[in-house]
Amino acid sequence: MIIFTDLDGTLLNHRDYSYREALPALKKIRSRRIPLIMCTSKTRREVEILQRTMGLSEPFIVENGGGIFFPSAYRGFRIEESLGIRGAKCIPLGIPYVRIRAFMKRAGARYSIRGFGDMTEQEIADLTGLPAEIAASARAREFTEPFIIEDDEKLPDLERAASEAGIRITRGGRFYHFIGRGNDKGEAVKYVTSIFERNRKKSVITVGLGDSRNDLPMLEQVDIPILIPHPDGRYEKVDLPGLIHAPFPGSMGWNDALGDILDTYDRAHGKGSRFVELHRFAKGSSARNAGVYAREQKPVSSMGHDPSRV
Ligand SMILES: [Mg+2]
Repeated sequence: MIIFTDLDGTLLNHRDYSYREALPALKKIRSRRIPLIMCTSKTRREVEILQRTMGLSEPFIVENGGGIFFPSAYRGFRIEESLGIRGAKCIPLGIPYVRIRAFMKRAGARYSIRGFGDMTEQEIADLTGLPAEIAASARAREFTEPFIIEDDEKLPDLERAASEAGIRITRGGRFYHFIGRGNDKGEAVKYVTSIFERNRKKSVITVGLGDSRNDLPMLEQVDIPILIPHPDGRYEKVDLPGLIHAPFPGSMGWNDALGDILDTYDRAHGKGSRFVELHRFAKGSSARNAGVYAREQKPVSSMGHDPSRV
């Protein structure tokens, strides 16, 4: 099993960025060596800081699917297509940040938009509620640009202009983001899953957690999608078979929803029960899952009881 998770409003609380309430599930994930793959609009530097704080060294997806990073020598994986960057392997999927900034230079005044590249660290800190030193890391962008727009009604026109430059707009919890046309969290999740399956030479079960519109492509891509409500308890409109609605916002909902899945994971390992139990959670209709269901009918013992499988 591998877990993909959004950060802001999902693993981290919307207001204070705290993940304290997720600590019980985080501890279980760490002790079971289940890969926890952050999939976020944040930058590489921000994720690296967070991983250090959490004591994690796992692959991650930054800037809404703009880039994938694996720690060097991660679990003995071979990732031929990656570039070596400072102790990590990078697979860039997005368009370079300079191209997005060039577009903004042309279009910024006309549409009254301002991106992180136009703001001081203090402004970013004020807008996000992040401490100033983290705001500096949020500004170290490689593939995407968060921005604000004065007048939402200009968005459709801006979208058209961006599209002509090969750029798309997606919406996160606090900001709009410019991103390369072919990029989203779903494509990146698919890519990372394929790297795991290639290296483990078998399929993996994927779990995904998110709260916003930009998480939908990720939730569509995983076997077990989990939707976290917004701070006011409202859910993003998502229509996905088997979608699990976490009962609380932020880290508390994250902990609760994953707690159930991890208990099932433990039962599947501990008592020789069937993997199929885990798929009580999984959506049933996609072709991918039809395959997973069929496979999971086999008892654990006939699959060699490999803990990495579930
Ligand atoms: Mg979010």
